[in-house]
Amino acid sequence: MHTGRIPVYHHIDEGAGEIDIPGENMPGPGPNTIQLVGIAYGILFVIVGAFLWRSGRFSRTVKYALLLVTILLGFLIFSPMLPYMFGELVASADSRVGATLLGAAFGMVLFFVLTFLFGRHFCGYLCPIGAVQEVAYLVPVPKVRPPWKVLPVIVRAAVFLLILGAGLVYSISILHYLGIRQFFTLTVSAGFLVFSVLLIISLFLYRPFCRFICPLGAIFQVFATPARWKIRRTDACIECGKCENACPTSEAGREDTKGECYLCRRCMDACPVEGALVYGGKTRQEGTER
Ligand code: SF4
Ligand code: SF4
Repeated sequence: MHTGRIPVYHHIDEGAGEIDIPGENMPGPGPNTIQLVGIAYGILFVIVGAFLWRSGRFSRTVKYALLLVTILLGFLIFSPMLPYMFGELVASADSRVGATLLGAAFGMVLFFVLTFLFGRHFCGYLCPIGAVQEVAYLVPVPKVRPPWKVLPVIVRAAVFLLILGAGLVYSISILHYLGIRQFFTLTVSAGFLVFSVLLIISLFLYRPFCRFICPLGAIFQVFATPARWKIRRTDACIECGKCENACPTSEAGREDTKGECYLCRRCMDACPVEGALVYGGKTRQEGTER
């Protein structure tokens, strides 16, 4: 009997030149064995990255090495693609109940916990979608910075509800149509062009996918806001405002929550005072942080 639901999960037209992802036909929305390698990499380097930040050893070399490896994993094994998996998970939630669904959901909860502990290291350096946008933004062209902080929040919430509704009600994963898979599998198609346009936009606007579209980004922001470890100002700050001018997401202010901080380091690189910005937890002594 026709239920009115659209079975997009199993029949996605990737266009001519489709490339097989190893284990892609495994049932369920959870990751296949090879994709688990990417997810393990994500978990490991969120933790390693956090401790390198904490000890002040997260250098530019580490930053670019992580971005490079992450992008390569995106192209080679299409992982760790958590936003894409989230779309699949929601779109197939009704037909994939059971251990696989629980496993995938558990994996995501683990990343939410890591974000609550350490901030958005996953978004900053371990998500291939975020990493390609981060690298695109390094290209020296004029940058556009939206003046309103509330706009991305509203757009993100609306898109999140759209993705959730389309997935739960019609079993449609909207992220399929943004060409993420086609881009990272180098499958020339309409979707490939859509993601390429997003990438061109990210030359000028910082991480448009992360900030306006990504459903996980919307959730990560909620967990990153009360994060235990994040970038904080100390009493050494001279209020010169250079960090705020450098921050592409307007999160470098003293009172900003860092929910949208991608740990890009631009604020720290711009700061003229050693020790005015540190990464870590709040101390109990009022006004001092370490
Ligand atoms: S916001 Fe989404 S796409 Fe961007 S880095 Fe985070 S998980 Fe990846
Ligand atoms: S400039 Fe600083 S506060 Fe702004 S996103 Fe980058 S690391 Fe976070």
